[in-house]
Amino acid sequence: MPDFALNTRNRLEGVQEAIEAAIYTPIADLAIAAYRTREPVPFAERTRGEKLALRPGDSWGGLFDCAWFHFTGQVPASAAGRCVVLLLDVNGEMCVYDAQGVPVRGLTNVSSTYDYSLGRPGKRVVPVAAAALGRETIDLWADAGCNDLFGELKEQGTVKEACIALCHEDVRALFYDFEVLLDLLRVLPPESARARQVLDALHRVRWLVAAGCSDEVALQARAVLAPHLARRGGDPSLRISAVGHAHMDLAWLWPIRETRRKGARTFATALANMERYPAYVFGASQPQLFQWLKEDHPTLYAKVKRRVAEGRLEPQGAMWVEADTNLSGGEALVRQLLYGKRFFMSEFGIEIRHLWLPDVFGYSAALPQLLKRAGVDYFMTQKISWNQVNRFPHQSFHWQGIDGSSVLAHMLPEETYNSPALPRSLAKAESNYHDKAISDRCLLLFGIGDGGGGPGEEHLERLQRLADLAPLPPVQQEPAATFFEAWRRDAARSDASAGSREAAAPGREETGRSLRSPFSPVTTCTAEPGGTCSVVSSSASGCVRCRSTVRLSSRAPYALLVPRRSNRRRASGLTSSRRCPRPSRRSRWRCRSASCKSRIAARDSSLNGR
Ligand SMILES: [Zn+2]
Repeated sequence: MPDFALNTRNRLEGVQEAIEAAIYTPIADLAIAAYRTREPVPFAERTRGEKLALRPGDSWGGLFDCAWFHFTGQVPASAAGRCVVLLLDVNGEMCVYDAQGVPVRGLTNVSSTYDYSLGRPGKRVVPVAAAALGRETIDLWADAGCNDLFGELKEQGTVKEACIALCHEDVRALFYDFEVLLDLLRVLPPESARARQVLDALHRVRWLVAAGCSDEVALQARAVLAPHLARRGGDPSLRISAVGHAHMDLAWLWPIRETRRKGARTFATALANMERYPAYVFGASQPQLFQWLKEDHPTLYAKVKRRVAEGRLEPQGAMWVEADTNLSGGEALVRQLLYGKRFFMSEFGIEIRHLWLPDVFGYSAALPQLLKRAGVDYFMTQKISWNQVNRFPHQSFHWQGIDGSSVLAHMLPEETYNSPALPRSLAKAESNYHDKAISDRCLLLFGIGDGGGGPGEEHLERLQRLADLAPLPPVQQEPAATFFEAWRRDAARSDASAGSREAAAPGREETGRSLRSPFSPVTTCTAEPGGTCSVVSSSASGCVRCRSTVRLSSRAPYALLVPRRSNRRRASGLTSSRRCPRPSRRSRWRCRSASCKSRIAARDSSLNGR
């Protein structure tokens, strides 16, 4: 029997692709000249390389070759009054410059090694005029690298596209309307009234565009979808703070000189999008990137400074780079903090109070101590969630270090720093947020990252439509620092209520089975000695001592972050140096509660029996 839901989804995805294909209509080709070199050359020397005359389909270089592209042409007179753009894709990363030699926009080839489930990394559109006069001269220079975001050669480095095109604004807007509602359908309960109404509207659009998606049809289709996008949320139980992000590994799959250029492209794109989307807030970490931009592109850097002063471009992360913290020594980490914080203070007058390590594998237990001494109160990552075996139990918690210092830590509930900012992103953030019972805020980082690039228009168009779309949690673009401050208040409130519970139940620490909660200094197991441990007795939970499946009950959201050799070991009620009853897995901590041990043993025997 055919899968009706799957068939429906496939048909609607086909409609979405058809709408997308109708957004741009090429109206004239551009002439392409390229000046190829092995290494980058500055704008002033852009004609120094080997000159190539190219057409779409021609290869212009090998991996990591560089070239200045010169695109020339004329807007046809027939385009007068229409929205005109350029479509450029040379199967490489590219930065468009203005006549003064200042980067104005980064472009990325559509064909990429990127994980497409997180979005499409391609950026190929350069605006010319919202209402062209006709006969405008196109004379554009762009600095290209023959590699994709992940440092790979794509399609033999061939020029894919270089043309002048009309942009059908209503079709473009319809595409995002349709995309957002279709993705909403994926997260709604299929039998809900909302799902059925959205599905019906999408089908009506499907019939409307069946014979082609002209501007007039797009207007009619948008009118069909508008009431469904206008359905606003009710009482927000979770609010999502969204920040634009372009995660950049400074040294990874490409030469360092390409990292410098990736930085310029990424900042240029962010600034260009800020002009178009007033709500857009973008964040960038790593002073080293800012320093390179300052050296290579001082005019662009001055624009960055202005956006920082406006509060729309947020410097993030207290360290000089997103540093490894396991192999580094204490002095190296101190210097990271010292130079990183000093740079942001001297350049922007901003005291950074959070450590930003979205993609670092593992964290030294000394960090809370170093952070507190450096005036850093917050810590953000998501990397620990990338684990096929262990599930970290919390996303909002106090992280206590080996000397007892603690910082407030937050891990992204969506478990990625490359969010596509679609309905499924917000739905995952809500469903996957372990600590939503004690904090009604979480952070979402949207954009294309790992090799830079950052948010494209698609992220910002989606967020405009998602701001308070029912029944998703409301999302708002704001700096991470604003999120941390709001969340600190949640933490203080939770601490206070946990403190009052302690006061109301004196003497329970005598059971010797107290655990640390995410926000309260000490929270005790409520069972009598020899009874069932209330902390781990919930049916959904494994034992917090065994690190294989750390999953806690919602009514007892305890974080177990007591360090290995802490002198708080006895107070925590846990003991180390014992073998976990699970075969081949060592546990650092075990509970003294007999019932807990038996729970682990029972589960292990059932596992062994498989
Ligand atoms: Zn990374």
